[in-house]
Amino acid sequence: EVAAKIARFTARPASRRQPADVPALEAKGVHKAFGDLQVLKGVDLTVQPGEVISIIGRSGSGKTTFIRTLNGLEHMDSGSVRLHGEPFISAGASASGAHLFKEDFRLIRDVGMVFQSFNLFNHRTILDNVLLAPLYHGLGTRADLEAEAFHYLAKVGMAAHARKYPHQLSGGQQQRVAIARALMMSPSIILFDEPTSALDPETVDEVLGVIRSLAGDGVTMVIVTHEMNFAFDVSDRILFMEQGKVICDDTPANIKAGLYPQLRTFLKNLTN
Ligand code: ADP
Repeated sequence: EVAAKIARFTARPASRRQPADVPALEAKGVHKAFGDLQVLKGVDLTVQPGEVISIIGRSGSGKTTFIRTLNGLEHMDSGSVRLHGEPFISAGASASGAHLFKEDFRLIRDVGMVFQSFNLFNHRTILDNVLLAPLYHGLGTRADLEAEAFHYLAKVGMAAHARKYPHQLSGGQQQRVAIARALMMSPSIILFDEPTSALDPETVDEVLGVIRSLAGDGVTMVIVTHEMNFAFDVSDRILFMEQGKVICDDTPANIKAGLYPQLRTFLKNLTN
């Protein structure tokens, strides 16, 4: 049954299905400054349906800022994001922030997000946490959504904890719940912003394992991560950012083959 639910990621309704050559997400020329500090200097990213992309690079290179511009959490000064070929986000004409195309409040639900710090509601049970958004958006009856919630909680190994509160769980368990919460919206793409950075070392692997299994299911994902071995293992492409620019966007195999001398210090940290 979980497999059937997951299949919805690839079997979109006909009205939303796009030809295979239309990227799931396409960001072009993203610029962003904080005051005088130019943090993004024209970043491009194309994600095909089913692709897993990891974004790596030194601390402060702009990875988090970039992934947050992809769903409007951070406003961009110039550039644009298209989702399934449709305009999704453009630079705001006003100072108030990113402009979400009006018709695309529908699309924003299509982009899942998993944060470094989980962002669960602490006064709500695990079950309520994963039910809130789909109930709010009227995606089904409470009974249907509860059944779906248990499917996804089972998928991340957390069904037995449905009645607990976030503070009763480890960081790794909370992050797995946050992933189930993202899955509940049947997003066509999930963005991960350093999903394991806030975790105790012993719980990192359980979260990476869940992300790995989603990759196996064909879920389209963009992952900002410091977990180099994981990134090289799970990704179709790796973006390496430095000082607000993408200096490498290629397959793990090509990068490992040494095509990018500037990545040498980084690659030294890879095992095998
Ligand atoms: P990374 O994720 O690669 O570590 P970030 O995108 O978090 O990089 O940060 C890039 C740069 O932007 C850093 O110099 C950081 O200090 C700065 N920065 C990030 N967010 C803000 C903000 N809200 N206000 C001012 N500067 C910021």
